[in-house]
Amino acid sequence: IRWRSTSLSPGDGVRITMESALTARDRVGVQDFVLLENHTSEAAFIENLRKRFKENLIYTYIGSVLVSVNPYKDLEIYTKNHMERYRGINFYEVSPHIYAVSDNSYRSMRTERRDQCILISGESGAGKTEASKKILQYYAVTCPASDQVETVKDRLLQSNPVLEAFGNAKTLRNDNSSRFGKYMDIQFDFKGAPVGGHILNYLLEKSRVVHQNHGERNFHIFYQLIEGGEEDLLRRLGLERNPQQYQYLVKGNCPKVSSINDRSDWKVVRKALSVIGFSEDEVEELLNIIASVLHLGNIQYGGEDSGNAYITTDTQIKYLARLLGVDGLVLKEALTHKKIIAKGEELKSPLNLEQASSARDALSKAVYGRTFTWLVNKINVSLAYKNASVIGLLDIYGFEVFQHNSFEQFCINYCNEKLQQLFIELTLKSEQDEYEAEGITWEPVQYFNNKIICDLVEEKFKGIISILDEECLRPGDASDITFLEKLENTVGGHAHLTTHKLTDGKTRKVMGREEFRLLHYAGEVNYNVNGFLDKNNDLLFRNLKEVMCMSDNKILTQCFDRAELKDSRRPETAATQFKTSLAKLMEILMSKEPSYVRCIKPNDAKQAGRFDEVLIRHQVKYLGLMENLRVRRAGFAYRRHYETFLQRYKSLCPETWPSWQGKLADGVSTLVKHLGYKPEEYKLGRSKIFIRFPKTLFATEDALET
Ligand code: ATP
Ligand code: MG
Repeated sequence: IRWRSTSLSPGDGVRITMESALTARDRVGVQDFVLLENHTSEAAFIENLRKRFKENLIYTYIGSVLVSVNPYKDLEIYTKNHMERYRGINFYEVSPHIYAVSDNSYRSMRTERRDQCILISGESGAGKTEASKKILQYYAVTCPASDQVETVKDRLLQSNPVLEAFGNAKTLRNDNSSRFGKYMDIQFDFKGAPVGGHILNYLLEKSRVVHQNHGERNFHIFYQLIEGGEEDLLRRLGLERNPQQYQYLVKGNCPKVSSINDRSDWKVVRKALSVIGFSEDEVEELLNIIASVLHLGNIQYGGEDSGNAYITTDTQIKYLARLLGVDGLVLKEALTHKKIIAKGEELKSPLNLEQASSARDALSKAVYGRTFTWLVNKINVSLAYKNASVIGLLDIYGFEVFQHNSFEQFCINYCNEKLQQLFIELTLKSEQDEYEAEGITWEPVQYFNNKIICDLVEEKFKGIISILDEECLRPGDASDITFLEKLENTVGGHAHLTTHKLTDGKTRKVMGREEFRLLHYAGEVNYNVNGFLDKNNDLLFRNLKEVMCMSDNKILTQCFDRAELKDSRRPETAATQFKTSLAKLMEILMSKEPSYVRCIKPNDAKQAGRFDEVLIRHQVKYLGLMENLRVRRAGFAYRRHYETFLQRYKSLCPETWPSWQGKLADGVSTLVKHLGYKPEEYKLGRSKIFIRFPKTLFATEDALET
């Protein structure tokens, strides 16, 4: 149809103008789901996605929401030419594109002086990180610049390879999976030039440092260093050029990935670090830490199962002592004993094999996790700028349901509940606001409000996190199972929670004894409580902290603060920290005008051209797209400014052709009356026409063609 396929429209434009409007719509579907005849049908929704996907049209709108399907191939739609085409366009006049969303946010920020944010969601491998990079590139290329700005642009762009090296890994789902959540503010000055940035990071998957599932890898940086590091660097770090030598890198049995070139990535990362402004000394200290983690992983213990553990690998201790700048004997002692302070007195007790291994792993996770946070802060310092307008980009883990779901999935899915709530509130609100602004009566929409699930997780005292924290703090026999029992006793009857035990004392056969099930807005998930307490506590023995505080490594001295040792209060639990940081994030997002990009993964094989319908249907559901469409369509399928509408269709009416002299609203009114619109088919607001059904618009479109 023409308004999709004018000469402005890249990609599908030229071909379609040759065809009649009807066959084109048949072949490539509609570019906005609100124009589907049968908007409540999931089948029609998916069929539309399929048609477009087949034609390499990976983007489709639901109103102003962009739906994107990962093509798993290079489409050549991200050239400088494409960027130019989307600059300053009218959002709906050209094919849907991530650049249209980028441009729209940029212009709203400039003209309305309101901070923006772009929320990107979708499951692992759906294309969130790629989308956020495309947006950043769009601004880097199209925004005004100056010399000083060039450095900032470079730094903004170069922060990606660095963060990906330390925070991304090869998983079964994605060869470059982000294992942390990221919110990044891009800051613009009064001229609209990008002048700075700020990154907030969420919940790095630290457990990956010490363990990887089969077919997965540790964070990229380890392999990059081993494969790409110069000979003398490796020698100095005491590393061999073979990932198989390192316990922390062999668990997944997957050292090489065909889509990844660790050696050339190493060069990219090294360069990026210097562009961002890391000094040579800092890089050296950073690599000392990375190497130390590998040496820690190779520390082995001897001893009987029940007896005291002792270290059998002295070479590692020697390297660690040198690289971390700590006393080897003290470190050795700390890796085999624990120290607690009871009634003001220090007590030291030996660890058995299992305890010693987990103390070692806890140290590796803490060192890596804190270094990652340091890295983010360091990047922030190099991007710092004050008094700017901002566009925020949120690239955060989507809803996750695995065979086995643990504490991590619980946190991630809780985060998605919060984002869904924000989405509902903001979309409904913006719909309502628009109706009000246009002077059109609001017709209430029924929708599922997931606040009840957010409350179930986060409420004080009775929420799941509170109950978990309570068990973590309780001395004595607290365990994952007592946590589950407490859940049963406290929130057992909740409409969105079920456990093995039924309220009448009988048991539910379909669920494991160690599981609880949450009915999320996106579907049911069973969580296994195994490890919940440990992961939530995230404890590091005191003497290991002490050793780290004594380190000569300048990064570690910033990561491990002596004040922490003096503080007798318990550190906040992982879930509570996450809850607090999410609450802050919600506040940030609430204060901005949002745009949404919803990413979909077309198949599990990471292959181009494959459209797996079952998989896609799941995601359409998880992303709440049908509900989104329902809200958007509740009143009117289509709305346009009078000027745009008149411009497009004025040729269909003798009184408006070649131009209308009077008020725009009167012109549109004359035009639609001439076209025979019935009163129930449309409404005229203050600045826009609202059309109730797609067929009315299509008829008008088809009239243009004849
Ligand atoms: P995760 O949650 O695991 O971090 P993600 O949603 O961030 O996943 P990406 O890393 O962005 O997923 O995308 C996975 C892969 O899919 C990319 O490495 C790339 O190969 C391909 N891909 C994603 N988007 C596009 C695109 N627009 N064009 C071409 N290929 C793409
Ligand atoms: Mg990602």
